[in-house]
Amino acid sequence: MIIPVFLLQLLFSVVGGIQKEVPASPAPLEISHLTGDLYVYTTYQTYQDQRVPSNSMYLVTDQGVVLVDVPWDTGQIEPLLDSISTRHQKKVVMSISTHWHEDRTSGLNILREKGIRTYSTQKTYELSLKNKKELAQFQFHSDTTFTIGQYQLETYYGGEGHTTDNIVVYFKKDQVLFGGCAVKDIEATDLGNIQDANLDQWPLTIRNFQNRFSELRYVIPGHGTGHSPEALVHMLNLLDQHP
Ligand SMILES: [Zn+2]
Repeated sequence: MIIPVFLLQLLFSVVGGIQKEVPASPAPLEISHLTGDLYVYTTYQTYQDQRVPSNSMYLVTDQGVVLVDVPWDTGQIEPLLDSISTRHQKKVVMSISTHWHEDRTSGLNILREKGIRTYSTQKTYELSLKNKKELAQFQFHSDTTFTIGQYQLETYYGGEGHTTDNIVVYFKKDQVLFGGCAVKDIEATDLGNIQDANLDQWPLTIRNFQNRFSELRYVIPGHGTGHSPEALVHMLNLLDQHP
C-alpha cells in the first residue's frame, strides 16, 4: 500500500504533537549547585500514583562531604556517592536526618555500612524506632552546631509542624536554611502529607524560623522547586488557608 506523503506528514505531526504533551520523565538523580559549597540533590518515589520529587542537600568541606537527608530513592545512593566522589574528589563523612519519615531516613543502614556517621535527634530516633524506620547511629538531644572543616551547620527545632520531630538545618556562612518537610515550596497549593502533622503548632514553628534566622538568602523546601526565603511567608498563608 502506498501512503501519500501528505498523510504520512499528517501522521507524524499528530504523533509528534502527542509526544510533546507527555512530559519527559525526570532524571532519577538531579544535583544542582546552590551557592558556595552547597548543593541540592533530588530523587523521586511514587506516592499516590505520582512521581514525587524529594530534596536533600550536601555541603562540601575540607574534611569531607555532609549530607542533609538521604536520597528518598535508595537506588540513588551509589550514583550520589559516585557523583560526589567524581565531582569533588571527597568522601561523604556524615549525614543528618531532619525527621523520621522515609524520605529522610531510608537508606541510613546502607550509609552506616559505608562508614558514614549518621545523625538524628533523639526524638527522631525514638519515632523512627516506633514506626519501624531506619535509625541513625548517633543522636543529639538539643539544638546542635556541628563544625566540619571550615563550615558550621546548625540544627534547630522550632516546634511541631509536618511531624512532631521536624528540624531544620542552617548553613551559617551562606545564610541558607534547609527547611525540609516543615517548609513547602513556594508553588505548593496544599500542605501535602499531613498525617503526622500538628496544624495548630505549625504556624508558630514557622515564625520561630523567621525570628531565629532573620537574614536568609535561600530556603530549601523538602519537596518541589524554588529556594526563595518567601517560602516561609507562603507557608504561613497555606496554613492560614487550610480548612
Ligand atoms: Zn517529606
